[in-house]
Amino acid sequence: MVARTAFKRQPLMTNLTTNWRQQLRDSLITPEKLLDRLNLPLHLLADAHHGSKLFPLRVPEAYLRRIHPGDRHDPLLRQVLPVVDETFQAEGFVDDPVGDLASSAAPGILHKYHGRALLLLTGACSVNCRYCFRRNFPYAEQQIKPSEWQQSVDYLQRSPDISEIIFSGGDPLVLTTDKLKALTDDLQDIGHLRRLRIHTRLPVMIPARITESFCNWLEQLPWPVCIVMHINHFREIDRDVALACTRLRQSGITLLNQAVLLKGVNDTVEIQQKLSEKLYDTGILSYYLHQLDPVTGAQHFQVPDNAALQLHARMRDILPGYLLPRLVREIPGEPAKLPL
Ligand SMILES: *Cc1c(COP(=O)(O)O)cnc(C)c1O
Ligand code: SF4
Repeated sequence: MVARTAFKRQPLMTNLTTNWRQQLRDSLITPEKLLDRLNLPLHLLADAHHGSKLFPLRVPEAYLRRIHPGDRHDPLLRQVLPVVDETFQAEGFVDDPVGDLASSAAPGILHKYHGRALLLLTGACSVNCRYCFRRNFPYAEQQIKPSEWQQSVDYLQRSPDISEIIFSGGDPLVLTTDKLKALTDDLQDIGHLRRLRIHTRLPVMIPARITESFCNWLEQLPWPVCIVMHINHFREIDRDVALACTRLRQSGITLLNQAVLLKGVNDTVEIQQKLSEKLYDTGILSYYLHQLDPVTGAQHFQVPDNAALQLHARMRDILPGYLLPRLVREIPGEPAKLPL
């Protein structure tokens, strides 16, 4: 059992008063409403429609509040607004850039790397990030279905080299806390499991997701828990996100961040420096900076390798080592994410 520090706890009060599930349901899903909500010019509409036909628009209000109204180049907006560039085909960009379809070990399980198994718990997300490497992924066929869950547990049970379970998706925190608890209850008896990791964008998109009952669930787990956030720009961290992270830290959770290097979003040294520093202020360590996976429809986000390397070298010059994320890329068939 892991020792957890007992801090004095404050209930998490966020800006928005509706609960997280209502906020998920209330997310904006049409380009018309997005442009209207953010005072953006209507001439962007046709493009947004083209893009959203391939991969739907989805963004929750709590995140919209951090976007500057009227600024069509806002780096937070760029991550969620569909554009016509998504319909272009570029050489080298494919539907399954990381070879996920080839590495499914059991229903909903990706066992690509030694010691770690990734569970695709759901295909749903709280936001549709335009650069997502899963934007063309056949979710419905890959995520764990209730009828196959036992098969997945059996696979983990008979794979003693797996010491870490990674909850992923989609976004595993769109599942209710009761559902998550039922899943971890079924995993408790697997003696060789030592760590649980959760990859999620929900604490950032809808900070109200970090409820007391969620934290209580985390605290009673028999393993150390690590949550890997996915924050690409320092302005994604507002007061509510910071409070949610503080609450998670009070539950003894390790917080890491992985960002994707995105043209027009975070491809300058200044932004990367501010991101690493703001993350640290929030109790999160920079873990990875991913070079974009070449997924069809995301080529306009690509930063060339030489520019990425130069950027990273300059970050190394100005940041302490523990604030410097590893610049990596995923290459299908490789035993780990590879340094660039
Ligand atoms: C990225 C990834 C992991 C985790 O890799 P780390 O280097 O441990 O962060 C595990 N499994 C799969 C399938 C992944 O894509
Ligand atoms: S939250 Fe993650 S999985 Fe979901 S769309 Fe964004 S990048 Fe993709």
